[in-house]
Amino acid sequence: MMNKSITTLPPGSTIGILGGGQLGRMLALAASRLGFNIHIFCPDANSPAFKVAAKSYSAEYDDEKALAEFARHTDVITYEFENVPADTAAFLSSRIPLYPNEQALSVAQDRLAERRFLAAASIPTAAYASIASIEDLQEAISKIGTPSVLKACRLGYDGKGQAVIKKPDDISGAWKKISGVPAILEAFIPFEREISVIIARSQTGDMVAYDPGENRHHNHILDETLVPADISADTQNKALEFARKIAESLEYVGILGVEMFVCNSSAHDPLYVNEIAPRVHNSGHWTQDACNTDQFEQHIRAICGWPLGDAARHSDAKMKNLIGEDFHQWPQYAARADCNLHLYGKLNVRPGRKMGHVNQIMPKKPDKTSRN
Ligand code: AMP
Repeated sequence: MMNKSITTLPPGSTIGILGGGQLGRMLALAASRLGFNIHIFCPDANSPAFKVAAKSYSAEYDDEKALAEFARHTDVITYEFENVPADTAAFLSSRIPLYPNEQALSVAQDRLAERRFLAAASIPTAAYASIASIEDLQEAISKIGTPSVLKACRLGYDGKGQAVIKKPDDISGAWKKISGVPAILEAFIPFEREISVIIARSQTGDMVAYDPGENRHHNHILDETLVPADISADTQNKALEFARKIAESLEYVGILGVEMFVCNSSAHDPLYVNEIAPRVHNSGHWTQDACNTDQFEQHIRAICGWPLGDAARHSDAKMKNLIGEDFHQWPQYAARADCNLHLYGKLNVRPGRKMGHVNQIMPKKPDKTSRN
């Protein structure tokens, strides 16, 4: 890894981003506002982020010639997705600062590594077991019981690579569904709501966290995030404390998303961390219109060695994803005074494809978190 000294990159410097989806695009837009140049590296020649970048590299992540060229022309590199291949991250970080660091990537890429890291940091998660074979699965079910959730260790997202086991008879079907790859079995958490904390950590170790958002899913894809979340002050404080502890333990630089399950107040331990994302996060999009400094600018500030901005929330917000055919509703949102529309410039509408989102902004009500 490169030396860890703090360098403040001035406006006019060049930021490289691995990945060219909507997150890369919104990072590029925020960075441009601060006077930075953006270079995007992504295999897909039609990447939405290419349209807002000074320079684009359309090459595979193992193309060392292209990677070396990319590194030579940038001052710092970041990424917009957690499945950046480890070799790509190592190749780049030996040449140029890469944030967030490789440890954050390796922990977030593998559910078993993530669970072990969280356990070492004393962060509660669902009870889990490591699964390498159907025999392991049978044994784990006898300990963890049902219902439980089998999750492939790598490359799962939006509910893919997962199977719920409701009764022991479901074991072989679940094992087939995840194609027999290394996995974890997790106890099913009967949660009341799902929340996420978006936190930023700077190169000097300062941290600012946004108010937790409450996430609603549809077809396993994030549909809406509501802020403030309907949680008690105790739960909010605990959620923020968990996020801080994770960012600190990883010596993290940038924006980190931490997804959590909130159980009802009679549960013994009512808050569990489900997943961490070492990047800007869909459940943080509301910050664009309800906070002084949004998650995208905050990430750019952190990786460039700038002081973090103000994460205070000036409004209540509801973020709605426009998925697939929802895209065609854009004129009705464009006509509303209370909505800000963010469209990703994707050429084709496809089912399940994130095409844009809408932030509905409302006057801030007295804090719900006074409910205990
Ligand atoms: P994940 O890919 O881990 O974020 O899981 C996707 C979704 O599946 C979550 O947002 C939850 O709604 C559900 N889920 C995942 N793990 C569990 C669990 N241990 N107990 C209950 N629901 C879960």
